[in-house]
Amino acid sequence: MKKVAFYTLGCKLNFSETSTISRQFEEKGFQKVAFEENPDIFIINTCSVTENADKKCKKIVKEAKKISPNSYVTIIGCYAQLKPREISEIPGVDAVLGAAEKFRLIELLDDFAKEQEVKVLASEIQEATDFNNAYSINDRTRTFLKVQDGCNYGCAFCTIPLARGKSRSNTVASVLESAKEIGNTEVKEVVLTGVNIGDFGIVEGKRNERFEDLVRAIDEVEGIERIRISSIEPNLLTNEIIAFAADSKRFVPHFHVPLQSGSNTILRKMGRRYLRELYEDRVNKIKTLMPQACIGVDVIVGFPGETDELFLETYQFLNELDISYLHVFTYSERANTRAAEMNEVVPMKKRSERSKMLRILSEKKRRKFYEENLGKTFTVLFEDDVQDGKIHGFTENYIRVAAKYDPMLVNELKLVTLDQIDDQGNVEVREPEFVYEKH
Ligand code: SF4
Repeated sequence: MKKVAFYTLGCKLNFSETSTISRQFEEKGFQKVAFEENPDIFIINTCSVTENADKKCKKIVKEAKKISPNSYVTIIGCYAQLKPREISEIPGVDAVLGAAEKFRLIELLDDFAKEQEVKVLASEIQEATDFNNAYSINDRTRTFLKVQDGCNYGCAFCTIPLARGKSRSNTVASVLESAKEIGNTEVKEVVLTGVNIGDFGIVEGKRNERFEDLVRAIDEVEGIERIRISSIEPNLLTNEIIAFAADSKRFVPHFHVPLQSGSNTILRKMGRRYLRELYEDRVNKIKTLMPQACIGVDVIVGFPGETDELFLETYQFLNELDISYLHVFTYSERANTRAAEMNEVVPMKKRSERSKMLRILSEKKRRKFYEENLGKTFTVLFEDDVQDGKIHGFTENYIRVAAKYDPMLVNELKLVTLDQIDDQGNVEVREPEFVYEKH
């Protein structure tokens, strides 16, 4: 029995895809092992958004060859699609597979016999038109369920459409099948995952369904306790979706909505499909219907043309907005994007100063959000996450909670009252409140 190990860089989508590919290997009789357990085959799933994707890829290959010098090393993922030739020159790599090939890996590489030449099987990205179903089952608590892939938007800074292709989706019926399978496992939380998830519903280039159809249908699946939407573009987060989530049995009051800039000048330069007024309106709508909702925001600093004044517009916009945390990205030039050709480049020093300012703002926002919720009662899903005698979990509105460790709590939903913020920034809960089991 050949042994295979996996390594994943990047986003939730990559994790769901690695997990599905690893199940394909197990079904074919391969033994899945940890990276350091002398595998015969390594599958490395790469990311193009990660800083220094090339260096990371080289490092992982080097480590793999140290562990198993005779192993067969295969590179897949976004970086493999963007730079197949470069990757094939990394010493130790045996095969590189693109977006249209990665789910046929076992069939295409057959017996994983080493050859003189590196196998490069990466079609043009236009060929990646099939939707491949995927979901992760790495831990018992939560799964990332891929429902959509690719993107038709073409924001000026983004390489994802080049690496993953056009927008395409699973059907509602097929997602429900996967959701029912998941519902029959111990997993309690499903995270709906995609590149541009609000654009769900395009099959073979034609829109057949809408994201809202999926949201309504999946809410009925028995056995799933919680459903989260990983991230959704503000212009696609409709009033209907927000209102449905507010009344839903299973959708949690947590939204992650990319803003990228609080300056309309920069939003236009980025080619985003909304202005700050729309974003503000979405936040207000969520907070009116769900005052306890957590709202996370992606923001990029240092995009070309972002002057001090325009950055301050972003800062002030975010400061005044009723949001709960930020994911701050420092802009960096990516080959083959429109932004990489733009003038008015922001010096690296300024980019990192702005990033620091927004990270501090994020911590303030998170603390304020946590403080507003102290004394209130929520349901926590405890995870297999134990440190210094404390077990951790998240409330439905994404507050990280710490409680005294009890093995019985792992993967359980418990009603708790939030007590105080501890030194690590988690919220401690009042233990006598463990009275209610939601099943
Ligand atoms: S919406 Fe824009 S940033 Fe998001 S994947 Fe599509 S092109 Fe990239």
